[in-house]
Amino acid sequence: MDFGFTISKPRSIEPTEAGREQLLQLEEQVPTFRRCMNCGGCTATCSAGQFTDFNIRKVHNLYRWGQYKELDEELQKCMLCGKCTLVCPRGVNLRSLIIHLRKALNKDHQPGDYQHFIRNNNR
Ligand code: SF4
Ligand code: SF4
Repeated sequence: MDFGFTISKPRSIEPTEAGREQLLQLEEQVPTFRRCMNCGGCTATCSAGQFTDFNIRKVHNLYRWGQYKELDEELQKCMLCGKCTLVCPRGVNLRSLIIHLRKALNKDHQPGDYQHFIRNNNR
């Protein structure tokens, strides 16, 4: 029967194959990341978000999309105060996640050189 409307397709953006692998790696290094239910509590209470346009949800998306330059710039805005970790109802250690991402993006390389990260994550 035609009701004149259809159910919308899911609007979430799926990561690429490489992106999916990166997500799994990140979940291994920060296991609590698996518990995230996207409630937005961390973004709403973020200290940096009160003074800049920093949005921790955007960090997650940039990582999934492989936009490392933008991701690195975004991560510099975080003050590592840990408030997001304190308020998270699922106990996600976001502070640890950010520290890990910062290290992974700049490990043994000049700031701004992301080729190593892209190579390592596109094997
Ligand atoms: S507060 Fe915790 S569960 Fe909610 S979006 Fe942030 S990390 Fe995910
Ligand atoms: S640790 Fe970073 S992301 Fe978390 S509340 Fe503080 S400034 Fe925001």
